[in-house]
Amino acid sequence: MGCFVTLLFVFFCLNSLSYAKFTNYGVNYWSAPDHTRIVVPLLGKTKPKVTVLHNPYRIVIKFKGKIRGNYKALLNINDTLVKRVVIRHLKGYNQMTIYLKNKFNFRVFTLRKYRNRPFRIVIDVLKPESFIEKQKIERIKKATKYKEKHKYIVVIDPGHGGSDPGAIKNGLYEKWIVLDIAKRVQRFLRKDPQFVAFLTRTGDYYVPLRKRVEIAHDYNADVFISIHTNSAPTKKLSGIMAFVLSDRGAKNSLIKMLEDIENTEEMVKDIKLAKSRKTNRMVLNVAHDFSVTEGERLGRYILAFTSNICGFEDRGIRRASLVVLKNPGIPSILLEVGFLSNKKDAYLLKNPNFRERIAYSIYKGIKAYFEARRSIIALNRRIHLVKKGETLWKIARIYKVSIKDIMQYNGLKSYTLRPGMKLAIP
Ligand SMILES: [Zn+2]
Repeated sequence: MGCFVTLLFVFFCLNSLSYAKFTNYGVNYWSAPDHTRIVVPLLGKTKPKVTVLHNPYRIVIKFKGKIRGNYKALLNINDTLVKRVVIRHLKGYNQMTIYLKNKFNFRVFTLRKYRNRPFRIVIDVLKPESFIEKQKIERIKKATKYKEKHKYIVVIDPGHGGSDPGAIKNGLYEKWIVLDIAKRVQRFLRKDPQFVAFLTRTGDYYVPLRKRVEIAHDYNADVFISIHTNSAPTKKLSGIMAFVLSDRGAKNSLIKMLEDIENTEEMVKDIKLAKSRKTNRMVLNVAHDFSVTEGERLGRYILAFTSNICGFEDRGIRRASLVVLKNPGIPSILLEVGFLSNKKDAYLLKNPNFRERIAYSIYKGIKAYFEARRSIIALNRRIHLVKKGETLWKIARIYKVSIKDIMQYNGLKSYTLRPGMKLAIP
């Protein structure tokens, strides 16, 4: 069964029809708090030529080839960074002029055709370094404030976003569904005085996977939960699943495919994943076990609650090498909350009341996990390591419990203690 599920699971998040839908817009843009991304999908490969002009400050990009989908010659963006984009078709080439609001930094790169995604030119106009640094400091400050109040910090990561829509099936976009669920989970956690919750993205824009990890570390998160809703190759597949990080690259070729898909945006940008995996592995060694074992425990609680409260089939916990889970020291899971390709799941996920129930069950799972963790910690504190010469009488006096209770609690048959023995104190 496990193998069967894995096999069905690999076509994740993307499907061959999905890109056509969102490229109908042709040239598109997304405004994030720290950047504006403009994406031009093309029918074929091209090498853009970039120049900068002043008065007014603008980026001019010349490229050959046909733009995929419909687009307007004038795109009035008017966000904090970009005024507008003007596209002209000149003799044998296209000219795109991006009018900026100030002399902002920018980067232009291409994404190669990958699976169902076409060749793309991507322009990121960036907020100044000082702004990004300020955001980071604010995150750290907030975290310190809440840690002082002894709150558990939960970082929720709505998958995909912006130029990366995730799965598009049965009229639903994964990036929207997961953002909505994440916000609802955050609301439940905020109402509970034990918790505080932050999101890695709060709108429709893309956050690089490593940035999501960085955000979790800035917030000094106690747990990190990435939320996804996939598309599977078979419409029958439904339910909920969780992933924890595998310390090895996947041997199973099918899981490998899944890793490729969830790590897509980094892969196509030719970021050397292999290299970073190696360095990460060294860092991971120490904190890795904690993140994974605790991640697994957290996952089990969440799956139990979602299947009990929402009736979602519990499809268990798997391991995969996913960039977003490389969070040494932070228990981290990636939740797959239903399959958009399954008519029943999609129908349920479309309903805001159901999404509220999902969010509630995730919240209940998180809460149960922390309660269990607390009692384990409490129990650990009440374990007494017997030192040389110590007697049951002395230990009973230290903890203000009876000798009989210690003996019963630990199943002791005689009064004799050995140094190094561990006694649980009732
Ligand atoms: Zn996804």
